[in-house]
Amino acid sequence: MTLANIALSSRRPIRDGLLQFDPPRLLGSHCKACDTRTFPPRDFCPACLRDGPHDVVPLGPNGTVFSYTVVHQAPGGRRTPYVLAYIDLDDAVRVLARIDAPGDDIQVGDKVELVLQEAGESEGVSLVGYAFVPSPLKSGAV
Ligand SMILES: [Zn+2]
Repeated sequence: MTLANIALSSRRPIRDGLLQFDPPRLLGSHCKACDTRTFPPRDFCPACLRDGPHDVVPLGPNGTVFSYTVVHQAPGGRRTPYVLAYIDLDDAVRVLARIDAPGDDIQVGDKVELVLQEAGESEGVSLVGYAFVPSPLKSGAV
């Protein structure tokens, strides 16, 4: 089942406050004192150590692969192999996330974009997680 087939009222993020559905975006916190953004949202700023509350802001859906690995052994229930990567979002936030593509297709520096994906079910509600996919705007294409 694709996300488009799931009614809005019957789905929720894998963790509250992690993402928004429309438009699909990860949510981060923004420190007004030093302009640092973090993911996931935090009550304190890791750059200037100022306590919050900080604004919760949507983070841009596009990023660049900083580093990645291909995971061949994982906890039960996870299909392997899969690509796990550090992705530098265009808003200067580094995110650890899965890339939904074969490892042979990924290189450091590749452009990727956010996708929301079904990530199981809890108490009759579909859980929505996130991953990244290679962007049509591959590195060097711009
Ligand atoms: Zn700060």
